[in-house]
Amino acid sequence: MIGILGAGSLGRLWGAMLPVGRVAFIARPGEPTDTDLSYRFRPFKGPESTVRIPFLKAGNKPDLLLVTTKAGDTLDALAGVINQFAMDTPVLLFQNGLGSQQAVADRWPERPILAASTTEGANRPEPELLVHAGTGDTWVGPMTEPARASVSKTVAMLAATGLAVHPEPDILQRLWQKLIINAGINPYTAILNCPNGDILSAGLYQDTIDELCRELSELMSAAVQITETPDSLRQRIEQVAQNTAGNTSSMRADVLRKRQTEIDFINGYLAKLGKELGIYTPVNQMLTERVQQLSSH
Ligand code: NAP
Repeated sequence: MIGILGAGSLGRLWGAMLPVGRVAFIARPGEPTDTDLSYRFRPFKGPESTVRIPFLKAGNKPDLLLVTTKAGDTLDALAGVINQFAMDTPVLLFQNGLGSQQAVADRWPERPILAASTTEGANRPEPELLVHAGTGDTWVGPMTEPARASVSKTVAMLAATGLAVHPEPDILQRLWQKLIINAGINPYTAILNCPNGDILSAGLYQDTIDELCRELSELMSAAVQITETPDSLRQRIEQVAQNTAGNTSSMRADVLRKRQTEIDFINGYLAKLGKELGIYTPVNQMLTERVQQLSSH
């Protein structure tokens, strides 16, 4: 049995793709577990269907826990439920950005804590409809020492979905690569309130992207010893912005829906890291503050 904490877009995607009868959502403490969660599922290819998934009952011991809450909710959400699970239950974190994964690993270093980086895309255009909007790859790797032995078992359990799931010994490096792209696209789309491709011609982007890429290059080199020039980072960011030109980023969507964004775990994480490492990060700081202001209004 696989337990899923966080019945939002990504949690519902894994819920719908895992074999029926082998998956359950984890209720918040004190919430009832007697009614199933039911929703319509529109797969990437094929006809729509209705999915019905139970909540994990007291005493049920999952073999794996997927955590699909937003980064800012993850530590508290896990703290509320983790004691009901055996010490050797692998916990797989799906959050974008960085900071929340390390916070969980630091809090429970004796548990097998893993992190995933995924390019699967899911959204909920209506509360009761889950759309698998884009398919890609999911990499899984260890965040704590005890997790090293759980990687292949975890990958095998998720591969039962038919999705492409791979082991990744250096998951931090993979999370950093995604962080770079998110840091170079998401805040601009939120501030400018535009789809990904439109940032490229905007004055704010053009005036700050070279300095942002200088910050990203220095931070990545100091934190995970990956050397990439600012020009190369800019090219990668712009390639992704062009390839996803019509898409609305999750950060822009969160601002439009007046939901908390993950800025503190993207540019906010980078600005904080810059302070710790003595690297000057004025653009990450400016983008963080401007997105925080949007969310607070
Ligand atoms: P989401 O739709 O907002 O889902 C998060 C869910 O967690 C919500 O249903 C929320 O419930 C629930 N939650 C919050 N606190 C909880 C708690 N204490 N106990 C149980 N559930 C709790 O977000 P998402 O799009 O699925 O994204 C989740 C994470 O995956 C994010 O870090 C995101 O960056 C990452 N990710 C998402 C995608 C994607 O395609 N969606 C792709 C890659 C990575 P309420 O709504 O009631 O607060």
